[in-house]
Order: sequence, then C-alpha cells, then structure tokens
Amino acid sequence: MPYFEYECQNCGDTFEVMETYTEHEVDAEERCPICGSLEIEHIDETSHVPVCELP
Ligand SMILES: [Zn+2]
Repeated sequence: MPYFEYECQNCGDTFEVMETYTEHEVDAEERCPICGSLEIEHIDETSHVPVCELP
C-alpha cells in the first residue's frame, strides 16, 4: 500500500498516511496525528513505497 505525504497547516508537522489509491482519490478525511487538525495539505504528488530507514 502506498504512502502519501501531508503537512499539517496547524502545527506544521509532516507525516505520511498509508492509504490505497482509491482512498486517496476520494480525498479521505485524514487528520494530523500530532494535533488532530483536519487542515492538512498533500505535499507529495508522487506516492512512494516504504523504504528501509538508514541505520
Ligand atoms: Zn498538526
């Protein structure tokens, strides 16, 4: 399942949401995991698959 990156307009935090393309198309109501705000903005037009984090 792809990840989409969002930025919270309230607290400025960026986070990734894992959702299907279908869910993304219908503009599912994601909310900031930090402050709970619904004012989030999609900041990455291209989805990307999870990658291994650097050690
Ligand atoms: Zn926030």
